[in-house]
Amino acid sequence: MVKEHVRKYLCENRLELGSFPTPIQLLNLSKEVGGDYGIYIKRDDLTGIGLGGNKIRFLEYLLYEAKKKGSDIVIASGPNQSNLCMLTAACCNRMGMDCQVVVNSERPNIQTGNELLNKLMDVPREYLGPVSEEERAAFVDDLAASLKHAGRRPYIIRNGASSGLGAMGYVNAAYEIYEQNKALDYGIQHIFAPGANGGVAAGLILGNYLLGCPFTIHVISVEYDLEKMNDCIQGVILESQELLGIEPKEIYDGVVMYEEFRGSGWGEDTVESRAEVSSFAKREGIFIENIYTSKTVVGMEAVIRRGELRGNAIYIHTGGLGALFSQYE
Ligand SMILES: *Cc1c(COP(=O)(O)O)cnc(C)c1O
Repeated sequence: MVKEHVRKYLCENRLELGSFPTPIQLLNLSKEVGGDYGIYIKRDDLTGIGLGGNKIRFLEYLLYEAKKKGSDIVIASGPNQSNLCMLTAACCNRMGMDCQVVVNSERPNIQTGNELLNKLMDVPREYLGPVSEEERAAFVDDLAASLKHAGRRPYIIRNGASSGLGAMGYVNAAYEIYEQNKALDYGIQHIFAPGANGGVAAGLILGNYLLGCPFTIHVISVEYDLEKMNDCIQGVILESQELLGIEPKEIYDGVVMYEEFRGSGWGEDTVESRAEVSSFAKREGIFIENIYTSKTVVGMEAVIRRGELRGNAIYIHTGGLGALFSQYE
């Protein structure tokens, strides 16, 4: 079923940085809301570098490209408490590469969460103040030009690593879940994942398609409305298809998207998501955080309670735990 050249691409263009496959566990939530269905968790918070998380899967592909191009310094950019920036620095340390972080916020007074981890790693950071993402990107381009001028070979990570290449990490994750599901007979038919810039969702949707659609992919927006999130995801899928040499396809089967759990958007928790961080830890002994992972759990629970599931489900814990410690100041 899976095209051989896709498998080959996924294997050959990847650095082995993280620990895979990540574990699958049964959630106690099953007993509470699952009814006849098992609700599982995919522990992508345990991807093996830094504090783990989805970004390690992206970075395996992006940093492979950086190495292949002979780059010697990686530029990552994001808002304050960016998981991507901290994890890029950690992966660069692991590989013996330099990293430069660019932040579109003021330098924080209190160094906590990911910022504390950046400080402990002593990664160079540039704080631009509260500028837009476009201004941040322009700064990064200028910085890369001046590094080149000084004889360095910079590699830029754009769009929070949610690119066609980064998303290969989640095409791979779809294959991984498929194989674990088959080997251990979990009976998983539904996958729940967060959607922000769309890399995780794009990879899962494309992977699922290439596998012949064994799953329904439920994408819970933590940032944009449905139209914008869909645009982001479609854009990433198009890039991935181009890399894999697959015919573009407009509409994918077996995808459901939700916008009603995001509250006022990225970084803004909701009453429900805030409560879920605590109840999840009490019920499961597993920590989630307020920006991505708890909103996804809240959404998944609501969908299950509405009786919309027919079959077992898995929740992808995308990590983000570095930021948790800055969310309770
Ligand atoms: C970046 C991130 C995501 C979102 O990924 P996208 O591919 O941008 O949709 C989800 N969860 C965590 C913890 C993240 O750091």
